[in-house]
Amino acid sequence: MDRILVTRSSMPPMDEYINEIKELWDSHWLTNMGPKHNEFRHMLKEYLGVEHIDLLVNGHMALEMVLQAMNLQGEVITTPFTFASTTHAIVRNNLVPVFCDIDPVTYTLDVEKLESLVTDRTCAILPVHVYGNICNVEEIERIARKYGLKVIYDAAHAFGETYKGKGIGRYGDASIFSFHATKVFHSIEGGSVCFQDRELGRVLWDLKNFGIHGEEEVAAVGANAKMNEFCAAMGICNLRHIDSEIAKRKKVVEKYRERLEGVEGIRLNAVQEDTELNYAYFPVIFEDYKYTRNEVYIRLQQHGISARKYFFPLTNSFECYRSYPTAGAEKTPVAQYLALRVLTLPLYADLSLEEVDRICDIILK
Ligand SMILES: *Cc1c(COP(=O)(O)O)cnc(C)c1O
Repeated sequence: MDRILVTRSSMPPMDEYINEIKELWDSHWLTNMGPKHNEFRHMLKEYLGVEHIDLLVNGHMALEMVLQAMNLQGEVITTPFTFASTTHAIVRNNLVPVFCDIDPVTYTLDVEKLESLVTDRTCAILPVHVYGNICNVEEIERIARKYGLKVIYDAAHAFGETYKGKGIGRYGDASIFSFHATKVFHSIEGGSVCFQDRELGRVLWDLKNFGIHGEEEVAAVGANAKMNEFCAAMGICNLRHIDSEIAKRKKVVEKYRERLEGVEGIRLNAVQEDTELNYAYFPVIFEDYKYTRNEVYIRLQQHGISARKYFFPLTNSFECYRSYPTAGAEKTPVAQYLALRVLTLPLYADLSLEEVDRICDIILK
């Protein structure tokens, strides 16, 4: 039997990519906001239904740079149930992460607990649309308005999703997407920031290119976070196929649901209303199931199938964050409960329904 990995990068037809990059041999323009970069940016703006968007080298730098562009100081309320990148981006901007527990149904920031964490040092809220589950954007906006806080969404899992008919990147002051090879949509490596304020975009544009503002002016302490032309070309090609990729993922998810829905001790991701989803992940919670999460993980491994304990450990239990006042997984009990029981199952567009059956047979046996 073939090994099944948790994800597999989608590829456009090879000829299509080669055709796309041919022009680069004529122009010799390989990076620094060339024609592919600009074309990709316009295509994305349309597809995502956003007002403003900029491209960056990856999702992590998109997050780091947008936080820097906002010139924030103090505390940022965030979730520990996420990839390391979210918390790292806060701390690498000399901001203090304040960990808020998550909602037991959507696994996103628990808005009931959010307000009690606001202090006079709070400057922003950084929620994550984890697994593509949409945060309670209305309540987050209400609290942010009340206290004058910025809202930056980590939308790395939510590419192309809509909520109440609006592109998910339109919510909050800014949202970041990741176009990493392992994501629903990718440009090999890449990322973007969607934002509402044009001025923020100007600052960001400089920051991703060393803060250079003109030939003889360096306006800010920037970094190098530009997307190159080869990545942009891959993004352009993949974007042409994204709708069929998502449709195929949906079929896989439906098959998983058909097999696992209603099994005692197994909890599946709740289905949210008013959303158009991208079927990025298939998280399963094993609570009082006949096997523990770790046992299922090992059984799958033994059959050459890799699922992931995504997200375990929580970022607030990382050794490097021990000194922060709100660190410690025990302070976010819902997140900890889920982190100990969750497994994300293999999911990609070309995963066959027979393979899904094989995975479910092993889990259920
Ligand atoms: C993938 C991911 C990132 C980082 O994106 P990269 O493009 O890999 O740098 C950030 N946050 C979350 C939640 C992610 O899953």
